[in-house]
Amino acid sequence: MRAKSFLFALSFSVGAIFAFAQELPRFGSLKLLTNKEAVVQLQGSNTINYRIDVSSNLFDWQALATLRSTGTNQYTDSFAPYLSSRTYRAATLEGTNILTGDHLSTPLGPITLHPINHASLVLSWNGLTIYCDPTGGATPYKNLARADLILITHSHGDHFETSTINSVTNTHVVIMGPQAVFSGLTAAQKTVAKILTNGATAAFGDITIEAVPAYNLTNSNHPKGVGNGYILTLGGRRIYISGDTEDIPETRALTNIDLAFLSVNVPFTMSGAKAVSTVRQFRPGVVYPYHYRNGDGSYTDLNALKRQVGTDLGIEVRLRPWY
Ligand code: ZN
Ligand code: ZN
Repeated sequence: MRAKSFLFALSFSVGAIFAFAQELPRFGSLKLLTNKEAVVQLQGSNTINYRIDVSSNLFDWQALATLRSTGTNQYTDSFAPYLSSRTYRAATLEGTNILTGDHLSTPLGPITLHPINHASLVLSWNGLTIYCDPTGGATPYKNLARADLILITHSHGDHFETSTINSVTNTHVVIMGPQAVFSGLTAAQKTVAKILTNGATAAFGDITIEAVPAYNLTNSNHPKGVGNGYILTLGGRRIYISGDTEDIPETRALTNIDLAFLSVNVPFTMSGAKAVSTVRQFRPGVVYPYHYRNGDGSYTDLNALKRQVGTDLGIEVRLRPWY
């Protein structure tokens, strides 16, 4: 299917209209790119949080993204090429510690996906906040809810920093990671940590966490069995976080992945070409290339990666600023 026609609309809750009458967002324009992606422009007041919802039938609406307004805001909808129509609406959100980012719907409410930097990301779902590989000190996380669960993939410095863990943890935090990470935790952190080896599964509330292999085939940067990738199941949705891995058969064999974060850099993980081949084999619904700064300081060409993944398999490639 191709994107042919688009409508757009606004919808607000009554409370939001009266509480924030001066802060109503308005759509500036809707532009279709040559690759059929839709760029939604939203005008709004600075620092107000807006959620953009989307519908293809005007009855069922899904949360698409939450953004913190900087005046004129643009959101690129990379799922649009797969639909014949798309209607957008926007609402003002009240409250503090609202996590911005793309959403993935579940029967128990949307998951929010919030890139931080390089390998660090934050997810929220159903009142829980999950951090993966938080590094970089307190500053990148200062306006975010603290972590209920922290997943660490391996002990390299771009993934694991005990001081950052301390600055983002909630009082009841649980930390999960492989043995080498556990060994590097502080004594206090060890008391709330759980070791997960490749193949192990753990539960955290209604979330299931499966540790999966992540390793190099052509060099020894990441020996097999030491580091983890993770598959999180939240509300029936499966999210794969690759950690640092080359193009390994275990990734290619994954099934039913709704959304994937995939490391794409050399020589530590995989090249753009390897990522294209892997993604086209395990076919996640959505893929975020992340961890894409190469060893020489250059960045993997994500536009080329996206073009080469193509649209024929229905895989949505989302390019977001991680640096
Ligand atoms: Zn690494
Ligand atoms: Zn790394």
